[in-house]
Amino acid sequence: MTTMRDTADLDAAVLALNAARSVTVVCHVQPDADTVGSGLALALVLHRRGIPVWVSFAEPAELPMSMTSLPGVRHLVAPAEVPAEVDLLVAVDCGSAGRLGALVDRLSGATTTLVIDHHRSNTCFGAINLVDPGAESTTSVIAQLLDAWRVPIDPDVAHCLYAGLVTDTGSFRWVRPGTHELAERLLATGIDGADIARTLLDTHPFGWLMMLSRVLGTAQLAPDVRGGVGLVYAFVRRDDVDGVRSEEVESVIDIVRTTAEAGIAAVFKESRTVPDRWTVSLRSRDSGRGTGDGIDLAEVATALGGGGHRFAAGYTAYGTPDDLVGALLAALG
Ligand code: 5GP
Ligand code: MN
Repeated sequence: MTTMRDTADLDAAVLALNAARSVTVVCHVQPDADTVGSGLALALVLHRRGIPVWVSFAEPAELPMSMTSLPGVRHLVAPAEVPAEVDLLVAVDCGSAGRLGALVDRLSGATTTLVIDHHRSNTCFGAINLVDPGAESTTSVIAQLLDAWRVPIDPDVAHCLYAGLVTDTGSFRWVRPGTHELAERLLATGIDGADIARTLLDTHPFGWLMMLSRVLGTAQLAPDVRGGVGLVYAFVRRDDVDGVRSEEVESVIDIVRTTAEAGIAAVFKESRTVPDRWTVSLRSRDSGRGTGDGIDLAEVATALGGGGHRFAAGYTAYGTPDDLVGALLAALG
């Protein structure tokens, strides 16, 4: 895998962006604030340089409500409006081509393709791959790219980048040297970090509390998994999510993963539309000995057809709840 230690990738990305006369930016399906923030930051910069740019994601049809106040949303278009042919296609925060969903067909219509990402499991499906598995967020990789490109970060771009940084670091819990330096740089542009975090992470309708009470009631603890590491899991069934947004569904894993008796957490989320289809969120933590020795979930999720990071990964599966748990237990070994 190429990494950002290789500045040749940064240089190649800058060359491709400078050469492009039209750009499509594709975010991953079921978009989060990191993929959307990355896409919109790039769109703002390209638009300002007079380059036609389209940003899109294959599904769902609507942008999650919490992200509608991000600057640059006017550059978002429906998948059908994404041109078939373009100079440059940029995929942001997508670990594999499958994460583009139905927009995967646009890869072949692009003169060149650039993958910008931070997933350990990235398959490097672009002609140019700017992949930094050490980066906290894809928006951090975008910040490095803007520096190499000598593009200044204004408040609107900073807002987009901060959105990805604050969410992918779990509100600055999963950090590394340099994380707070980037946060400081973005905040110094005058953006309201508290308001961005509150909008993206800390605002739920009352119905969320009712949903949580039902969903957390399904939680099970399997303490013997992986020689005593332990697995905790819960189900978000279709009937539980009536009237709540994807933001509420995605919040469940952050509660389940706090279980002290389990080093691994899973939340099975039933599709609202396709029977027996579930998306699965996985999280692990290390032993606390400071050795980073937790289960590598990127490997587990990849084996189950998905992907992700060492400590946060996911996949899609079909079947009954028993089938799902059985397959996960088998993959965990
Ligand atoms: P989440 O649980 O937040 O949906 O996903 C956790 C991490 O795993 C994210 O970084 C996400 O991009 C990745 N991930 C989730 N589902 C999939 C999947 O189906 N395929 C791949 N390649 N990555 C996934
Ligand atoms: Mn990300």
